[in-house]
Amino acid sequence: MDKRTTKNLSDSSVLKILSNISSNNSGAVVVVQHCIRMLTQPPTNFYKFCPNPLLFRHFITSPFCLCSPFVIKLLHPLTTNMSSYRKMRYPSFSLFREYNILFIRGLMILFLSCLTIRLNFCISSIPSSLKALPLKGHFSFEEADLKHVARDFGNRYQSHPMAVLHPKSVSDIADTIKHIWNLGPSSQLTVAARGHGHSLQGQAQSHGGVVINMESLSVPEMQVYTGESPYVDVSGGELWINILHETLKYGLTPRSWTDYLHLTVGGTLSNGGVSGQAFRHGPQISNVQKLEIVTGTGEVVNCSEEQNGDLFHGVLGGLGQFGIITKARIVLEPAPTMVKWIRVLYADFTAFTRDQEKLIFAKKAFDYVEGFVIINRTGLLNNWRSSFNPQNPVQAIKFKSDGRTLFCLELGKYYNLEETLVVNQEVEKHLSHLNHIPSTLFQTEVTYVDFLDRVHISEVKLRSKGLWDVPHPWLNLFIPKTKIHHFAEVVFGNIVTETSNGPVLIYPVNKSKWDNRTSVVMPEEDIFYLVAFLASAVPSSNGPDGLENILNQNKKILEYCERSHLGVKQYLPHYTTEEAWRLHFGSQWQIFQQRKSVYDPLAMLAPGQQIFQKSINFS
Ligand SMILES: Cc1cc2nc3c(=O)[nH]c(=O)nc-3n(C[C@H](O)[C@H](O)[C@H](O)COP(=O)(O)OP(=O)(O)OC[C@H]3O[C@@H](n4cnc5c(N)ncnc54)[C@H](O)[C@@H]3O)c2cc1C
Repeated sequence: MDKRTTKNLSDSSVLKILSNISSNNSGAVVVVQHCIRMLTQPPTNFYKFCPNPLLFRHFITSPFCLCSPFVIKLLHPLTTNMSSYRKMRYPSFSLFREYNILFIRGLMILFLSCLTIRLNFCISSIPSSLKALPLKGHFSFEEADLKHVARDFGNRYQSHPMAVLHPKSVSDIADTIKHIWNLGPSSQLTVAARGHGHSLQGQAQSHGGVVINMESLSVPEMQVYTGESPYVDVSGGELWINILHETLKYGLTPRSWTDYLHLTVGGTLSNGGVSGQAFRHGPQISNVQKLEIVTGTGEVVNCSEEQNGDLFHGVLGGLGQFGIITKARIVLEPAPTMVKWIRVLYADFTAFTRDQEKLIFAKKAFDYVEGFVIINRTGLLNNWRSSFNPQNPVQAIKFKSDGRTLFCLELGKYYNLEETLVVNQEVEKHLSHLNHIPSTLFQTEVTYVDFLDRVHISEVKLRSKGLWDVPHPWLNLFIPKTKIHHFAEVVFGNIVTETSNGPVLIYPVNKSKWDNRTSVVMPEEDIFYLVAFLASAVPSSNGPDGLENILNQNKKILEYCERSHLGVKQYLPHYTTEEAWRLHFGSQWQIFQQRKSVYDPLAMLAPGQQIFQKSINFS
């Protein structure tokens, strides 16, 4: 709706309501006229509360602005202090002298009640106004659909939306957002893009708002461009596993991954996208050339480093705050067919991290470097035997962990079958420079697809046992290199006393591969470790594998990090207060906040992150 129309509708319909109430009462109409004039000529200090001129204009032209606390503040002097009202510059004061104060008060109460009724009417008409939008896709108000998007992989937070949009085109998304933008700040409607819903703490949910099921956005159709600098154009709702299969048809592949590929492009680019390839290629957000974004005002914007760079960098790692990623151009490289997958164990944390750090700088050594911690586990090597081969079976069988905390270095070397001999020699050479426990070298060869999709294989197994849809109280941290030993000493074996209910990943990445113009928050040092506590809670257990205990453990880890000033940053962060978000963003907070006011001035996007609220702070 045109803003001018909105304003006219606002003035005239309010007048109509009032004249209906007291058709013979000219004084009432004058009061309303005053209110309306005051609204269209607000005091200049309103700008103080409203940082964005666009938002200010929107607010003042919206019919809902009449019900805001701001208006109530404006009306307050009218109902309580007639002498201050007399100081106003509009005429017809004399009319009021003829009415007593009680009458005016009563009238104002009636006036506000009518506006409330009007507001309620508008809210209840929102579903039909959404339904009326001419879309290629559709809105769903079905309980089953709402229930589905009200939960996520974390399985701990649930917020029911009002509607689910299943878009078929980018304009479906743009029109919906524009419509909600036009409803103004008082509509309370928010919009959450939902990728595959694999968030952990409600980040893709919207309480009473609209959830956009990004997976139903099938445009653009995936398009692979071969040549010297290959790339693929994909929809923001595309799953990475589908991109892998499509690009492999051209002998190509994206370079940077997450450990699990049943996540969407928009979902991982909103966070970072980190895995064992990040040391070489940076996270997924370092491997994107272009984006198409629908901003919080419903505008469709193309962006890249060169074009609308501020939005481009803001959206990457931007936790969905500045726009909805509808399209992305992902960098590709020639794909290998096979992966040599290696695991070796360390009992000495210093030797483990020294080797990890050596490998992330070694040229052409390995293509994937990760690691994980093993605490209080028996029979682990026996489990490995089903998929890995010990290099020395006799020695391997004699290995005993003796209750020690162990650190597993996990490596991947990509190759094609015709290179097998050369690759074997290279791998052997690199392994000979490592300081792992000699008897614990395990290797296997798998296809590139099986390697990248390895977590899905575990998913299938866990699903069959009913252990996938359980609470996942995960904690992901970025820890500066100089603090990782201190962290390991305190946390592994002390705070975390076993790792049987989920892996604890640990591996270094180098910051030079990350772009500090993006929104992602990193520690200050050049090398930092990703430490991921990926526990699954056993429902209704009160033991160490129960939700309460795992949450308690996470709390202890965070408290220790804070107490010791380790300079740790949360990855996939979750905070609930502005103060905590400010601390998280540190010096980046100002630019983050500024970008929000430019690209999503009503703060309607990704409310589940709990960074901004869709309301204006008047205090
Ligand atoms: C089994 C598993 C393994 C994982 N492994 C890794 C890993 O190795 N590395 C890693 O980095 N992460 C990993 N993650 C975390 C994962 O990257 C995030 O949880 C990611 O957000 C999930 O993607 P999704 O498509 O399900 O997004 P959702 O959970 O649906 O959304 C996440 C956030 O992004 C927003 N969003 C979604 N789509 C868009 C869009 N198109 N435009 C703008 N905003 C959008 C949402 O509103 C929400 O705020 C893993 C998660 C799981 C469950």
